[in-house]
Amino acid sequence: MAISEKNRKILWGKSGNRCACCKIELVAEKDNKDINLNLGEECHIISSKNKGPRHKKFLDDYDAYNNLILLCRNHHRMIDEKFETYTEDYLHKIKADHEKWVKLTIDKAIKGNSNNSQKLLKRLTSGKELIDIVNGMGASEFDHDELKNEKEVELIGSFLQTLRDWGDLIGMGSIETQQIVEIGFNLTKDLKEIENLGFMVFGDARKARITNDQKDNLGVWKIATIVVKRSDNPEIINLIDVVEQI
Ligand SMILES: [Zn+2]
Ligand SMILES: [Zn+2]
Repeated sequence: MAISEKNRKILWGKSGNRCACCKIELVAEKDNKDINLNLGEECHIISSKNKGPRHKKFLDDYDAYNNLILLCRNHHRMIDEKFETYTEDYLHKIKADHEKWVKLTIDKAIKGNSNNSQKLLKRLTSGKELIDIVNGMGASEFDHDELKNEKEVELIGSFLQTLRDWGDLIGMGSIETQQIVEIGFNLTKDLKEIENLGFMVFGDARKARITNDQKDNLGVWKIATIVVKRSDNPEIINLIDVVEQI
């Protein structure tokens, strides 16, 4: 039997994609882009093989989440070679401690982000979400990761410019609903193109009191934040997988 997709997801999610021993970041598959990352190994705490490490007979399911621990290649080799040190109980403890550490780290990141300027932004996957953010914005904070070639500059530059333009126009109420639906549809297509180039788009909207240089109160404005990040940017945290399982 093989490890099910569900068990694999739980294991990777709860482990925060990191080795339970050294906490190094791991990937499920490697391509040319992540030469600095290590391949993760889904290791068995109790081996199903007669002469395998920590073997016990008649386990219900050797591939169950409970019998797996996510490790880097080095630590996988270590726990299997030194199986007398790395006993079943000890590995369960390493795994539990590691999962606790991941949860704490993420909880802290969420808390820290909610009350200072470095916020956690939501990933945007539809034109409708984009329009809801830019609609009626008084100010915008648009940003993107460094762009590497003409194609990226063109696509992402024009995407952000389009958002800016439509945000202004829709906010002024000068566009009909039917047209807004069309704009949303086209923005969804743009998003797909950007994602195909290896980027993800994040954003949110907030209200803030704005003052000018003379500290005059200019009222409460809607501020739209749109950020285009490379999908391998380490700032991106996959909360879904982790939160789902906690
Ligand atoms: Zn390791
Ligand atoms: Zn092993």
